[in-house]
Amino acid sequence: MTPRPPAPDSLPQYLAEGVPKQDDADLRTLRDWIDDLLEYRQDVAAEDIDAGEGETIEAVEESSGGTVVIKKVSCGKDNCKCQSGELHGPYKYIVRRQGDSLDWEYKGAVTE
Ligand SMILES: [Zn+2]
Repeated sequence: MTPRPPAPDSLPQYLAEGVPKQDDADLRTLRDWIDDLLEYRQDVAAEDIDAGEGETIEAVEESSGGTVVIKKVSCGKDNCKCQSGELHGPYKYIVRRQGDSLDWEYKGAVTE
């Protein structure tokens, strides 16, 4: 008899114990749901992107690897030019869902 494939070490115990207890139909449903969740996380719509205080969104472009956002930012220093509206950047970010919040991965200054 073939042994059951072990759960990945990184998996939390409640999943490692709970998932194998589901029947075939629920496992297939679960697999589809996981695919949907992964897709949802990748796909952050333009209307979900909020500029922080003192920031301006220059461009939002949805792509397969996450949503690309170009924005200008304020550094928060009192005597900086950005405090009078001359913002820093633009900088490029890849935005993905991380739990219930958004993860902004900094990709550097935009030069063009
Ligand atoms: Zn500044």
